[in-house]
Amino acid sequence: MLDADFFRRWMTVAAASVDREAGRLTALDSAIGDADHGSNLQRGFRAVAATLEQEAPDTPGAVLALSGKQLISTVGGASGPLYGTLLRRTGKALGDAAEVDTGQLAEALRAGVEGVMALGGAAPGDKTMLDALVPAVDALGDGFAAARAAAEAGAEATTPLRARKGRASYLGERSIGHQDPGATSSALLIAALEEAAG
Ligand code: ADP
Ligand code: MG
Ligand code: MG
Repeated sequence: MLDADFFRRWMTVAAASVDREAGRLTALDSAIGDADHGSNLQRGFRAVAATLEQEAPDTPGAVLALSGKQLISTVGGASGPLYGTLLRRTGKALGDAAEVDTGQLAEALRAGVEGVMALGGAAPGDKTMLDALVPAVDALGDGFAAARAAAEAGAEATTPLRARKGRASYLGERSIGHQDPGATSSALLIAALEEAAG
């Protein structure tokens, strides 16, 4: 079972991973965006880690709701409200249970992903974070390692796509041939689940 400690670990592992990979995320965003994705998420997840330490929310749902709120208030770019919505919706769907199982997490993440789609109007294939998140949620029933592999494959599969949402879509055809930064950071977020489960 996954308790509040696990979810706090998920967020702190994700923050460390974003810190480590910020340069790569920003380099990807410099090819098809405005070169700020790494720094946007670094600022956001550092704030998440700091808030979780101070407030120590005591249910899985509360950990994710607080983390999402923090991302929305600290990340200026498109990705802040989108990731913020992902975590808040997922947290809300987990309710006030003290512990949840992987199946409940998968179901809640599905609600979170639907929130991202509703907010941003994108679908899988549009070269966004959804190209990593949707396959990851589909694979989560087979465990965290399977979700991680699906997210990484989904992120890599954005390279030949033409962006239809977000800043990269302004480039039209020129967005082809570059991996999407948001799909790449989503793969880090999903990989962090496996590491948090340790
Ligand atoms: P900004 O584009 O405002 O500078 P970021 O660079 O932080 O924001 O994030 C860019 C990422 O956000 C993209 O790589 C993409 O994955 C994701 N993104 C942008 N628009 C959308 C959308 N409408 N739906 C889902 N994801 C999106
Ligand atoms: Mg950007
Ligand atoms: Mg920006």
